[in-house]
Amino acid sequence: MPTESTFFVAGLLFLAAALGYVFARLGEVDEEGDSREAARANFLRGFRYLLNEEPDRAVEAFTTSVDVSDEVVDTQIALGALFRRRGELERAIRLHQNLVDRPGIAAEQRDQATFALAEDFLSAGLFDRAEDLFLRLRESGRHGTPALERLLRIAEVTQEWDRAIELCTHIGRLDSTRLRPGQLGHYHCELAERARRAGDARAAGAAVERAFGADPGLPRAALVRADLAADAGDARGAALGYAALIAEEPALVGDVLPRLLAALKAAPGTVDLRAVLDGVAAGGPESLRRLVSAIVSVPDFTADEAWVYLERFAAGDAVLGALLEPGGESGDLQARRADLQRLRRSLGVLVKTMPRYQCGNCGYQSASLQWQCPGCRRWDSIRGTARLLPAHTP
Ligand SMILES: [Zn+2]
Repeated sequence: MPTESTFFVAGLLFLAAALGYVFARLGEVDEEGDSREAARANFLRGFRYLLNEEPDRAVEAFTTSVDVSDEVVDTQIALGALFRRRGELERAIRLHQNLVDRPGIAAEQRDQATFALAEDFLSAGLFDRAEDLFLRLRESGRHGTPALERLLRIAEVTQEWDRAIELCTHIGRLDSTRLRPGQLGHYHCELAERARRAGDARAAGAAVERAFGADPGLPRAALVRADLAADAGDARGAALGYAALIAEEPALVGDVLPRLLAALKAAPGTVDLRAVLDGVAAGGPESLRRLVSAIVSVPDFTADEAWVYLERFAAGDAVLGALLEPGGESGDLQARRADLQRLRRSLGVLVKTMPRYQCGNCGYQSASLQWQCPGCRRWDSIRGTARLLPAHTP
């Protein structure tokens, strides 16, 4: 498996190639003899320091260069990016800041260095400084849209959702392929949830409707809408909303089932629970595991429906099936129910101790549902895992 230092070595080789090109170019032109020769010597010195693992001296050599040719500037930007990847942000910042401040540099090159410097600040968590630079690049032809995307990322981290909506709308107008499906809807949902927490049901409702306007099929918006119905005492509306959501997005059953059961307590018979759960189980063995995982997480759900799926799950597993039927046909219904109850308790403990959610994109695991993955920052990529039991080891 490639390590961080493998990447660094690969990066150095790339730089070596770039430097070879620089030297060739410098060698071609003789009229500015001395300064070209000095620039060449400076680069060679910097590169030697890199190979000798003396990065600070290398940075010193590169930043004392007065050469502003495209190749030299590109090489310095690439080296700074390598330092950033290694987490050596101070060195990356020194290299990139030096380019931004260097007199005589072409406008496009300065924009490129400014973008790289802003990325360094972003990686260092210096959001204010990063934001200042990205704002400056908003109108830049080549870096304008990527700068807007970084500004959007900062708005997400700092949870400025109104600003996120404005930036997302702007980016969508420029190039809608740069947005994730549902992204704009999620920002409206963030505002809706914030208003709901603050007890402002009216503002929350309005924000949810805007979320639907941005993305009519967004499961999160359907969930908040049903939650708002439940808050308002409309148990029937809430139950219908939760049931429709489970049918639409069975992977959310773990979060939605407890709410559906609570709504059905207040409005019994609103939906056919058996049909709703059958719809989830019909998705195959993984879906059944996910459903059972949801059922055992609600200890007071003891209606017949709960046992049907637990039984089906146990019957489909060789080990559990054997444990539940030690005497073959001899166990009566009462004894069997007691066995299932014990199994349910054990599975309940197991489910509680395991990460129940996983990002389908980067594999990030968490104990609770998050709409945006903290690992890869994708929206809607985290869903309940079906892993109820540890994987069998060969
Ligand atoms: Zn992820």
